[in-house]
Amino acid sequence: MSVRKNGGVSFWYADIGGVPDYRPALPGDREVDVCIVGAGFTGLWTAYYLKKADPGVDVAIVEKEFAGFGASGRNGGWLSGAFGWSREKYLATGTRAGVIAMEAALRGTVDEVIRVAEEEGIDADIRRTDEVSVACSPAQVTRIREEYEKALAWEVPKDRLSLIGADETRVRINVDQAMGALVTHGVARVQPAKLVQGLARAVERLGISIFEQTTVTAIGKGRVLTDRGTIRAGRIIRATEGFTAGIPGHERLWVPLNSAIVVTEPLSDDLWDQLGWSGCELLGDAAHVYCYAQRTREGRIAMGGRGVPYRFGSKTDSSGRTQDATVAMLRDVLHRLFPQTRGVRLDHAWCGVLGVPRDWCTTVGLDPRTGIGWAGGYVGLGVSTSNLAGRTLADLVLERKTEMTELPWVNRTVRRWEPEPLRWLGIHGMYSLYRMADAQEARTGGAQTSWYASLANRLTGH
Ligand SMILES: Cc1cc2nc3c(=O)[nH]c(=O)nc-3n(C[C@H](O)[C@H](O)[C@H](O)COP(=O)(O)OP(=O)(O)OC[C@H]3O[C@@H](n4cnc5c(N)ncnc54)[C@H](O)[C@@H]3O)c2cc1C
Repeated sequence: MSVRKNGGVSFWYADIGGVPDYRPALPGDREVDVCIVGAGFTGLWTAYYLKKADPGVDVAIVEKEFAGFGASGRNGGWLSGAFGWSREKYLATGTRAGVIAMEAALRGTVDEVIRVAEEEGIDADIRRTDEVSVACSPAQVTRIREEYEKALAWEVPKDRLSLIGADETRVRINVDQAMGALVTHGVARVQPAKLVQGLARAVERLGISIFEQTTVTAIGKGRVLTDRGTIRAGRIIRATEGFTAGIPGHERLWVPLNSAIVVTEPLSDDLWDQLGWSGCELLGDAAHVYCYAQRTREGRIAMGGRGVPYRFGSKTDSSGRTQDATVAMLRDVLHRLFPQTRGVRLDHAWCGVLGVPRDWCTTVGLDPRTGIGWAGGYVGLGVSTSNLAGRTLADLVLERKTEMTELPWVNRTVRRWEPEPLRWLGIHGMYSLYRMADAQEARTGGAQTSWYASLANRLTGH
C-alpha cells in the first residue's frame, strides 16, 4: 500500500486548502527594537507577548519560507504541557523547587494556548483530552509505572496522572496487545497549521511585520544579515529550532532530528466503533522508538514516529517529503497497534526536524552582553514549551525579573555536539540500539528494560 501524497510541507496544510500565499520579503535595510529570526511557534509567541506587554516596542520577524513552514506546521498536534527532559540535569543550574515550578509552568501552557486561541478567534480544532501512553510488553509496563512513580516523587499533582490496566485501556482505545497505559490528564489535541497560521495573523494584527522569503545568513551583536538586507536591532531572538545548524556558528548546537507522520483516509463509523478512541486522546506508546498519534477532526488517524532519525551533516529536508522506508515503517506501526486498519488508505506522509541539544534538555535565554536570545532544543515537545519560551523571552527582552525568568532552563548553556562523522554514527547507533531493545523486549517478554537501550542512553547522554 503506498501513500497518495508525500511532502508538500504537511497534511495539515492540505487540510486547509494548501500552503498560504507568501507575505512580502524584507524590502531592504531596516532598524527595529527587536528582530526575531524564524516564524514558528517560538518566534510568533515571543512577538505576541512582547507586543502585548509593551505596545511601543518595534518588532520585526524574518522567515526564510513562510510563517509555520517548519515543525510548527508539521507536528503531531500534541499540546501536552509535558516535561520531557531530565529533571536531575536541571539541578545543575537550579533547585528542586525550581524544577517543580518549571513543570507546573509547562502544564499551564495548555490553558494559556487555549485562552489566547479563544481570545484571538483562532479555530485550530482544539479539543481538551487525555494523553494515553500504552504499554504493549511487560518491559513497557515497567517503564510506565516507573515514569508514574517518578513524576509523583517530583510532586506532579496526583490528578494529572493515572495508571490503567489492560481492560480499561482497550475499552478506551482498542490497541492490540495493550497491557495497560499511563494516562495524563489536562492535555489537548490541535491542528498545528491552523494554530500557527492563526497566531501569525494575530501577531500581524498587533502591528508586527513578518517578512517571509527572507533568509538570515548571519546573526551578530546588533545586526541580522539577510539575503534581502540588514536589520539593526538592540535585541535579536534566534527562533530557528531544528534549522539552527544552518546558521553560521551554530552548526553543532542542536542536531536536527527527523520525525515523520502518515495520515489515513477518514475511517468509517463502523471502524471507529471497533477502535473506540471516542475522546480523541493523544495516543503514544512506551517503546524506545516510540510513536505518537491523534484522531483528527474529520476522523483520520495521524501516526508519527522517528523513521530515518538524522541526515549526515545536520541537513534538513526542503518540502517535507519523507523516505518510502519511513512510510512503510509507520504503516507497520499502525497495523501493529490497530490490525483493523489493514486496507485503510494512507492519504499523506511528510516529515520535519526538531532540535536536540547535546544533553537532551531544552533551554531559553538571552545574553545581555550581545543582546541575542534564543529558545528551543525542545526534543519534540515544542508545541506547548514554545509558549512558555515566548513569555519568558518577552520578559528577558523587557528586562523584567519574573517567576518565569527564574526557572532552571533559563540561560543554561550546553556543550556542543561532536563533529561529523561522530554525530551521524552516534545518533544512528543510538536508534539501532533502541530498535534492537524494542525487538528484544517483545521477543523475550521480560519485565526489565533491555540493556541495548541502557547502552544507547549511556553512549549519547540521553
Ligand atoms: C513531525 C514532527 C512532529 C512533532 N510533533 C510534536 C507534537 O505533537 N507535540 C509537540 O509538542 N511537539 C512536536 N514536535 C516538535 C514541535 O513541532 C517543535 O518543537 C516546534 O514546532 C518548534 O517551533 P519553533 O518555532 O521553535 O521552530 P519551527 O517551527 O521549526 O520554526 C523555525 C522557523 O525558522 C525558519 N528559519 C530557519 N532558518 C532560517 C533562516 N536562516 N532565516 C530565516 N528563517 C529561518 C524556518 O523556516 C521555520 O519557519 C514535532 C516535530 C516534528 C518535526
